[in-house]
Amino acid sequence: MGHEMGHYVLNHAYKGLVMIGVLIVIGFAFLNWGIKFSLTRWGEKWGVRGITDVAVLPLAVILFSFYFFLLTPVTNTISRTMEYEADMYGLNTAQQPDGEANVDMLLGEYRKLDPSALEEFIFFDHPSGRTRITAAMRWKAEHPQASSAEEVARPIFDAKGLCKN
Ligand SMILES: [Zn+2]
Repeated sequence: MGHEMGHYVLNHAYKGLVMIGVLIVIGFAFLNWGIKFSLTRWGEKWGVRGITDVAVLPLAVILFSFYFFLLTPVTNTISRTMEYEADMYGLNTAQQPDGEANVDMLLGEYRKLDPSALEEFIFFDHPSGRTRITAAMRWKAEHPQASSAEEVARPIFDAKGLCKN
């Protein structure tokens, strides 16, 4: 809930609209170039008279789809960055890093928890479970005052399973 409130408080709807809006404007410039390029080469063969001919619509859809396909890492990074910001807002507001980590584990039901850095950069519109849990545990380490007495007393195990306290 803190995460979703973060999207609202941090104005992600408006910021996303502006950033995607810029990509759409650039996309129309690409569309103009791509249609002119294609019609110069194949326009006569296709029987398309010009950029104002309604028969150019399928080509426009293909070019625009291709443009946004190529921009997948860019649009995903825009989204992933805002999702990370919302995670941080949620942690600062709810102060429940273990809750965040539990939710991230549950999301692993349908999201790969530990992708490679390249895979996360290209395909992930939200941070991976690894990134989110690491951030939650870093937040927890940086805010010991937010921990309950029960959490402080809970044994901490290192990577070999040995109790450290
Ligand atoms: Zn979100």
